Amino acid sequence: MTTLATTSGPALDTLVERMARREVAAHFLVPADQPPGVIRPPAPPMAVRILPCPVCGADAAAFRSAGIPLPFAEWRITEAGEPGPGDLPAMTVLGCEWFAPRAVLPVALAIERFGPVVANGFRSRGVALTELPGLSLGAALAELDRQEDWLEALLDEGTDSFPDRSDCTVPAASRPVGPAATWGAYRDSLTARFVGPHASDADLGRWNDSYLAVRRTTAARTLGGYATCRA
Ligand SMILES: [Zn+2]
Repeated sequence: MTTLATTSGPALDTLVERMARREVAAHFLVPADQPPGVIRPPAPPMAVRILPCPVCGADAAAFRSAGIPLPFAEWRITEAGEPGPGDLPAMTVLGCEWFAPRAVLPVALAIERFGPVVANGFRSRGVALTELPGLSLGAALAELDRQEDWLEALLDEGTDSFPDRSDCTVPAASRPVGPAATWGAYRDSLTARFVGPHASDADLGRWNDSYLAVRRTTAARTLGGYATCRA
């Protein structure tokens, strides 16, 4: 599923740049009644479903054994296929990836602003790719780009409705989960992967490097007041 043929060209460049800028836009979301950097405690309760990774096999047990906490204390892990406790909204991730709280801020804010029902279809880019077998990297990114447009509802303060969809992919890079036996492996584990732990290696990481460069530059420009970083 993540063996993606790569092509270069303006279309792929544009897609990667837009997805990076969208993640930055999500990072800078601020709840209307809170100062920057503060998330209202507690975050909305949520179930995190761990999907066994079809590439490396990491599952919920592997995730738990890595000792990595979920982004918010109010979130709970559920097994893939296990019914969620009550009517909790859910976000699905691979067993080999984790997210920093800032990366999933738009999920928490969407639940808070639009209610838990809208959150049932949240999933990581890595999970979304498992549903797109056989596509080239460009075609897969184009589909992820479409699935991430729900962020517009959060960016538009005048909108009071959320897209009625079940495939809301979270516009965020993740980091790989796994034991780091060497310094090199540990350093590698800190590098964000823009489409999950495996597909991001396409083209020797060329597009991942490009994504992270755009994300870094856009964030710096936004902090400096030179850009609004709208996706
Ligand atoms: Zn994996």
